[in-house]
Amino acid sequence: MSAFSEQTVLSVHHWTDRLFSFTTTRGPSLRFLNGHFTMIGLRVDGKPLLRAYSVVSANYEEHLEFLSIKVQDGPLTSRLQHIQIGDTVIVGNKPTGTLVIDYLLPGKRLYLMSSGTGMAPFMSIIRDPATYEKFAEVVLVHSVRQVAELAYHNYLTQELPRHEILGEMVSEQLRYYPTVTREPYRNSGRITDLIVSGKLFTDLGVPALDPAEDRVMICGSPGLLKDLKVLLEMRKFKEGNTSTPGDFVIERAFVEQ
Ligand SMILES: Cc1cc2nc3c(=O)[nH]c(=O)nc-3n(C[C@H](O)[C@H](O)[C@H](O)COP(=O)(O)OP(=O)(O)OC[C@H]3O[C@@H](n4cnc5c(N)ncnc54)[C@H](O)[C@@H]3O)c2cc1C
Repeated sequence: MSAFSEQTVLSVHHWTDRLFSFTTTRGPSLRFLNGHFTMIGLRVDGKPLLRAYSVVSANYEEHLEFLSIKVQDGPLTSRLQHIQIGDTVIVGNKPTGTLVIDYLLPGKRLYLMSSGTGMAPFMSIIRDPATYEKFAEVVLVHSVRQVAELAYHNYLTQELPRHEILGEMVSEQLRYYPTVTREPYRNSGRITDLIVSGKLFTDLGVPALDPAEDRVMICGSPGLLKDLKVLLEMRKFKEGNTSTPGDFVIERAFVEQ
């Protein structure tokens, strides 16, 4: 089997001048776990130019969806941001990653903590019925700089709770906590500050983080990952990985150059 397949762009949505999402066809042999990332890209001068991308769509869906940053001088995204319906995108056949519910020990409450495009893998995890079977409560925290960067906000608040199959589980078990750091909004501040001050838990009406009942997945900037890891380890949370499940797992949303 080839390491890559060529897929056709089905739709493109521009959220802001720094953020867009798109859907593509899906090869029949592509298998992945919800929360996985894979390599995707474009052919440039005949050669594949690829980057890691989390899959937004759930693994039972017919199409694939990705959420992307636009880096103006970025080798891939300076081009990828111009894709149109009908264009070809290369998709790697070997999805992988640590943001998988099986890599967490059983618990009561699952926190999905993300910044920016780091919410991408959580979009597939919150549409997996297995997530709601394993955890009684699921809290999706998404931190962005500007309100317009709250990708999927309307989908999460309006459409998903009315979803034919997932609607009931989502309405009863999913809490969505968007927070904005550089504009006024109903929730504001960085995730780490919201945890340290306790505001996140007061707002949600839940007890503070406790390894006895809480599990955490983190996907965001390298800085967020580093700070949250320290906060969790201070609270005696143990990191899990693909071979040993733990209280929390981490994935970078991008690598800083
Ligand atoms: C495991 C993993 C999963 C990833 N999943 C996604 C995803 O779902 N969506 C996505 O847009 N990117 C994702 N990325 C980042 C992605 O691989 C590329 O870096 C990004 O598409 C930019 O590519 P580029 O060639 O244009 O620029 P690059 O040369 O790759 O990046 C240039 C610089 O842009 C900044 N940057 C890159 N990506 C981001 C980002 N997502 N948010 C903010 N700043 C960024 C960094 O400072 C980086 O050094 C992921 C990275 C990793 C390691």
